[in-house]
Order: sequence, then structure tokens, then C-alpha cells
Amino acid sequence: MEKRTLGKTGWSLSAISFGAIKLSRISLNECDALLNRALDSGINFIDTADCYGDSEEKIGQVLKKRRREFYLSTKVDERDRAGVRAKLDRCLRRLRTEWIDLLFFHDVRGGEYERIFSTGGLEELQKARQKGEITHIGISIHNNLAMMRQAVESGVFSVLMVAYSALDEDRLTADLLPLAASKDVGLVAMKPLAGGRLADIPAGGWDAARFHGESPAQIALRYVLSNPHICCAIPGMMARNELEENLRVGRRPRKLSAEEIKEFMALAVEAGKGFCRNCGYCLPCPEGIPIPDIFRYENYYRQYGLKDWAKEQYRALASNAQACSDCRTCTEKCPYGVSIPSGLKKAHNLLMHP
Ligand code: SF4
Ligand code: SF4
Repeated sequence: MEKRTLGKTGWSLSAISFGAIKLSRISLNECDALLNRALDSGINFIDTADCYGDSEEKIGQVLKKRRREFYLSTKVDERDRAGVRAKLDRCLRRLRTEWIDLLFFHDVRGGEYERIFSTGGLEELQKARQKGEITHIGISIHNNLAMMRQAVESGVFSVLMVAYSALDEDRLTADLLPLAASKDVGLVAMKPLAGGRLADIPAGGWDAARFHGESPAQIALRYVLSNPHICCAIPGMMARNELEENLRVGRRPRKLSAEEIKEFMALAVEAGKGFCRNCGYCLPCPEGIPIPDIFRYENYYRQYGLKDWAKEQYRALASNAQACSDCRTCTEKCPYGVSIPSGLKKAHNLLMHP
């Protein structure tokens, strides 16, 4: 399995690592088989989050005897001291471990970045680090490039988790990823298959012979790993065939040819039409609707089965899709042809459904 160094942590991680977001959709026995197979096959990094259903509990139960064989990261949604402390205790308990290698502030957005610093959350994690409960502090940010830059330049975070796939090429590669690398901030690529969209391209028309016999998912992963600044990709996995398919990419590293990249990007662009990439170019909405966040919650609901969490997040929004006045200023700004007002309505119906 190809290994790469994760920035200043110095850890050598498997280029294909394990995204545990979908574990809540399978049984404990299936998790047992899948996670043990992953470790046996050379994967040495597992990423989960407090909000991924019972993913933490399952990892804790099935891997407690193998804890020293892999790096483990989880994430907390809280920003203040008491919230972070309570959540960290719960993570340690559910994961049945004495230490967490990497603790992320999860999905930081809006004014939350400042709150990490001003309400004691960061200080609490720094204390936890001194006590050996965690080893490194990371941050995951979905759609705010300016915030990503700020986080990288702060020197506070060892690792930045970014949504990075062939569909995110233009907005991240120009300066953010090289900047992070220059500051020795490790980069973990989440959503390397764009929530599964890239694994499905194109409906019925994939010519594997043009891609060394590989599948769209494998080429999508190779594409992400072709960026030298990325340490590892963490595709979400819940089935043995997905694991084996992804493993082949890490076990047999190869460079994509210029023709493969050209052809794959054309297919990716086609597959990505009308798909929200969470870039945030459509903001601000005059009604204060957090457009990309809403599409992300919808995606978490549909693709990852995190129904309760997605509904909870949506229902807590100060302004939701119902406030849309159909002014269309957002659609003019969206470079990817997303039908925003109608898409928001669909998401609203889904997320408000009892
Ligand atoms: S709706 Fe369009 S502009 Fe807005 S975040 Fe999604 S892809 Fe970007
Ligand atoms: S159409 Fe709706 S979502 Fe788009 S900017 Fe106008 S109010 Fe906001």
C-alpha cells in the first residue's frame, strides 16, 4: 500500500484510507469483517465523526484490540470549552480508546471559526493534547476558501480536511493546497468521489479499456492522489467490493496519462452538471439562506444515510429554503448550473419530512 506523510504530524498514512461515514448503515458483524480486512490490507488511517450515527461505537467495538495498528481521527461539532470537553469524553468512550490521534473541529463555517478561539474550544483541545488524550488538532472546512487560508496560516492546526475531487479542481489547487503544503499542514481529501457521483459516471458509457481496465471510482481516486500535496483520500466505504476496488488504487500506484486525465475530466464535468460542489459562489443570498449547507445536508441524508443528523442541522438553520423569494441572484452566480430555488424546495421537503 502506498504511504504518504501527513504534514507536520510526520505520520506515514495509507494513500487510500478509510472513511467511516457509512458504517452506521451496516451491521456490527459487517463492520467487523470490513474494518479488519481494511487493516489487514494495509489501510492504517480511519476517519469518523461524532455525528456519523453509531460509526464511532462500531469502530470501538470491533477494533479495540488492534488500536495500536492504525491512526484514528474523529470530529466534534462543538466550538466552546464545555461542549468540546463533553464531546471529547463521549468520543473516547464510544471509540473505547485512551487516545485519539487526530481530533477535528468538524465542518467549521461562518462565525464559528472565531468561536473556536474565543469560547475556549481550542484551549480545551490543547489541554487534552498535553494530557495525551489527543495527539494532533485538525479542522475540516467545506466551502470557505478564505477560512481555509486563515486556518492554514494560523499555525494552530496540524491537518486540514478538504472536500477534494475531480469536481473541485479549479477552486482548490491554484493556491490553497500548495499553501497548506508550504506550511506543513497535512491534507486529507474527503469526498474524493463527490458523494458517489464520480463512481457512477457516465451512465452506461464507461470504456474501461481506455483507463487500464479500471473503474470510474478508481480513476477518480487516482486523480485525487495525483495531487502531490494530498496525503490520503478517505472514500466512505460500507461493502467489501468497494473496499477491494479502492484498495487496488493504493496497492498499485500509477500516474494517470494526460489522455486519461483529459477524458476523465470531460466525463466528470458532465457527471457534475447540476451538482452542488459547495463552492459558495452563489452567496450571499439576500434572504440569508446558506445554500451550499442545505445541499450538503441533503447529500448527507441521501448518500450517507445520516438522516437524523441532516434533519437536525437543517431544522436548526436561522433561515431555510422557505425564505427563498425566487429572486434568482444565486442562479446567475452559480457556475455549475445548479437549479437552486427548485433544488432548495426539494431539499426542504426531504429534510422537513417527519
Ligand atoms: S449552488 Fe452552485 S454556486 Fe452555490 S455552492 Fe452549489 S455549486 Fe457553488
Ligand atoms: S433565489 Fe432564493 S436562494 Fe437564490 S438568492 Fe434569491 S432568495 Fe436566495
